[in-house]
Amino acid sequence: MVSKSGGFVRRPLHTLMGLLLAALAALPALSTAAPTAMRPLVVEPGTTQAAAFDTIFQKVVGPASLDATRVAYDADLERLRALLPKGDRLRQARLRSVYCGSSTWKDPVRGLAYSDQALELARELRDVESEARAILCRAGYIMLTRGAQHGQPEIDKAIALLSDTQHQQLLAESLEMRGDAQSLLGEQAKAMLDFQRARAAYRAAGINHEVEPLMLSIAVAYRRIGDFQQAERYFTQAVERMQDRQDWESVGTNLIQLGFLHSESRAPEKARAAFEQAIEIGGNHDDPYSVSAALMGLAEIQITLGDPVAALGTLGQARAGFAAEHDDSNEDMLLMLTGEAFASQNRHADALTRYQQAFPLIQRNGNDRYLAQLYRDRAASNEALGRILPALEDFKRYNELQMKLQGKMRLEQSRLLEYEYEIRRRDFENRQLRTDAQANQRQVTALERIRRWQTLSLVLAGLFAALLGLLAWRQWKKSRRLRSQAMTDSLTSVASRGGIEQELDQAIVHASGAGTPLSLLMLDLDYFKSINDRYGHATGDRVLRDVSTAWQAQLRGRDPLGRIGGEEFVVVCQDTSLEQALLVAARLREALHALCFDDVDTSLQVTVSIGAASYKQGDTREDLLASADAALYRAKQAGRDRIET
Ligand code: GH3
Ligand code: MG
Ligand code: MG
Repeated sequence: MVSKSGGFVRRPLHTLMGLLLAALAALPALSTAAPTAMRPLVVEPGTTQAAAFDTIFQKVVGPASLDATRVAYDADLERLRALLPKGDRLRQARLRSVYCGSSTWKDPVRGLAYSDQALELARELRDVESEARAILCRAGYIMLTRGAQHGQPEIDKAIALLSDTQHQQLLAESLEMRGDAQSLLGEQAKAMLDFQRARAAYRAAGINHEVEPLMLSIAVAYRRIGDFQQAERYFTQAVERMQDRQDWESVGTNLIQLGFLHSESRAPEKARAAFEQAIEIGGNHDDPYSVSAALMGLAEIQITLGDPVAALGTLGQARAGFAAEHDDSNEDMLLMLTGEAFASQNRHADALTRYQQAFPLIQRNGNDRYLAQLYRDRAASNEALGRILPALEDFKRYNELQMKLQGKMRLEQSRLLEYEYEIRRRDFENRQLRTDAQANQRQVTALERIRRWQTLSLVLAGLFAALLGLLAWRQWKKSRRLRSQAMTDSLTSVASRGGIEQELDQAIVHASGAGTPLSLLMLDLDYFKSINDRYGHATGDRVLRDVSTAWQAQLRGRDPLGRIGGEEFVVVCQDTSLEQALLVAARLREALHALCFDDVDTSLQVTVSIGAASYKQGDTREDLLASADAALYRAKQAGRDRIET
């Protein structure tokens, strides 16, 4: 029985370098430059050569290059090379830092040499971005020639160089590349951590869509860690996204990965379907590398399904395909699978020869999974040939390695859980901080609202108080008016009965307190009824007014005059003895005599009878009024038009 290889199809200058190139392509040369998509991609006539160079360089390192096809990207590199202004060292450094990732470099040794020169120039000019790109180029070639474990320290250097800078996108690509190297070396948890950091750095660089190679890497890491469900989800979604975009190369890559996944999870029929689909798509869309990789996967399935003849044929096609691409990096797997096919045909000696050839290559690549598979294959063939001791040795090695791998996988799984926990915890803390900040903000807003309400209610209260004040003032004015109305006689404008009673009360208080004299005159117009009868009520009213005015003029406000009935008046004479009051009464009587109403009737003569009384200690208002009234009565009785006491 043949195991699933599960190996990552290494795609020199294609997948691995594709990732590398994506990394190299990521950084905008000038942070202030407009986004690549906004810049003219065609060199306009009239622009200088340097400007044209910069435009294309921008495109090559800008975010849009993440989605550029290999062919288009290489074409831009060539245009860039043609546009390099003579003697411009800085642009030369920049060119080299990207051109080192060109597909031109079929031979990784020459590619590495070019990258060394690029690095030297970038360092000389202290161009950090170019330096980081050149380092990543070197790392890629070192990984191709000496294995992932030797490339990784180089990538570390680039990451260290970039971590304090603002070059988030190049940092993201570096992290992604290191994650790929770690994933190749079986450090899935570390890889996953780098992938997550890369994702964050992409976002920090403003790239919000998923970067497909990164998603592929994450899926592969899930597969390698044994989380097949997660891996299948990622691959299947990627295949759908890439089909929508008609990115057939990526569709092929993801299908091949799905094939390996199904192969590993012991679903050979599903694996075969995936590989065959990849072969078909690769053939239809001129992607020979995908075809070769898928053929290699298919061969393994054919061995599993017991068809070694078909497998050998398929392996032949795959080998030819890789050779046409000048790629010998899959030779280890090709040799091992060929051996497995021979073994299942009972050609164990041939099988062992192939295993022997594969061994140093697998060791060089440092892939323990391949190595375990080889030990097991070799043990089986040795056993079949009756070589028990070497078989036992290999079984032991296989067993140890397998235990180590499984232990490692379990460890990686638990580490991953730990890291994921860490990431989630940090996420949670960040969310917590955000929530706290939001809560604070809400509190501040609430307080502000309360303050606004307070201010508003204060203003309203102020307005209300003012309104109340206004109302109170108006009320007061009104009541004062009503009061003065009540205290004033509306016809004659002298004091009303109430008003003059009040005056009298105050005068009595004063007189009783101060012991000063106080007198009262009560006046009643004579035969007033006949005036009304003869001249009408209106004339009677007018007479009442004229009399009041004449008397007011005599009194000059000193002694208040009041109207206490129809044609009856009272004068309160303060600080006035009875004698003095009689003088006042006389004056008032004469004033009335002087009044003439010629316009009404020349013969109209109004007279008045007056009763005078003076205050004696202990008198009430009623007492005084009654005395005056009695005196008035006497005046009437005595014949009217006179003053009595
Ligand atoms: P005497 O000399 O006895 O006082 O006679 P007299 O007519 O003045 O007295 P009497 O009490 O009999 O009549 C008072 C009249 O005054 C009756 C009423 O028609 C009149 N009178 C009372 N109030 C008013 C008023 O406000 N306007 C007018 N025009 N007449 C009034
Ligand atoms: Mg009267
Ligand atoms: Mg009268």
